[in-house]
Amino acid sequence: MVLSLVHPAPAVAAWKSILRTNVVNGEILADLLELTAEQRRSLWLHPRFALNVPLRLVNKMEKGTLDDPLLKQFLARIEERESESGFACDPVQDGAFKQAHKFLHKYQGRALILCSSACAMHCRFCFRQNFDYDTSIKGFEAALSAIAEDPSINEVILSGGDPLSLDDAVLFSLIRKLERIPHVKKLRFHTRFPIGIPERIDESFLSCLAQTSLQVWFCIHANHPKEFDSEIFAALREIQKLGIPVLNQGVLLKGVNDTASVLVELYQLLADNGVMPYYLHQLDRVFGSARFEVAEAEGKALIQEIAKQLPGYAVPRYVKEVPGQPGKVVLA
Ligand code: SF4
Repeated sequence: MVLSLVHPAPAVAAWKSILRTNVVNGEILADLLELTAEQRRSLWLHPRFALNVPLRLVNKMEKGTLDDPLLKQFLARIEERESESGFACDPVQDGAFKQAHKFLHKYQGRALILCSSACAMHCRFCFRQNFDYDTSIKGFEAALSAIAEDPSINEVILSGGDPLSLDDAVLFSLIRKLERIPHVKKLRFHTRFPIGIPERIDESFLSCLAQTSLQVWFCIHANHPKEFDSEIFAALREIQKLGIPVLNQGVLLKGVNDTASVLVELYQLLADNGVMPYYLHQLDRVFGSARFEVAEAEGKALIQEIAKQLPGYAVPRYVKEVPGQPGKVVLA
């Protein structure tokens, strides 16, 4: 008898199989949502920044309407093709702060690694939708060297795209290398993955978080209470059980969350689940996103209104990114 020395292939993580079920075709999404021919005429069904939305979110969208707050965030409209004055390809000027491959350094003490160009979903208002990730170069050596050479950097932010798009082995290896840089003390994740695919917070990922010697902060991105469900909060709770603070940052979006009632519901829900409110961003003026813009005066009035209805710890800071400023500009 000949014994095989070949090890069985590792099972594909559940989250990867779920990611493959994302809806990436506008016609299929329109069919699933039973949109009429008239409604489809206002849509850009095959946009340049491609449709990509997890089934979990699709299943929460109301059928037969274009007014659903989740649908609006992911389905392209034809007006995205028109140029709008004051809107730009790179509104926050990320390109000017790129100091090495996959490495951005904007603010004192903090630096950002662009872990991946991939996301669990494509948001129509994403300020990085035109960013040149240059995926031809693999690895994080240039970014790690830049961080190691600058002792002022004590916090590394894993961003993207979405850092949770990385395979666990790649992500864990990156974290191990960051742990070996003595001046790096804190690690911050910025991710929207758990909102679409909470299965990403699996045992393997949690064990990596549990083992790191770095102080971890976990920042999710959500804009509307309808994005959440009990499974998402259960996944976030597993992170909280490790003593890791979970925060949320969102974007103020016209037609999605620009009413006091929606914002109060969102921040009450987050507070009920121990998620800190952190930032509500003014829209970054990226090409194609004009329909989402809310005037700053309106945004300030909304914050004043929700502050009357929520405890102080549940009210986010309303901020705007202004290229060249030493940090986010606080509007309210
Ligand atoms: S980086 Fe964030 S905002 Fe941009 S498409 Fe990905 S998940 Fe959406």
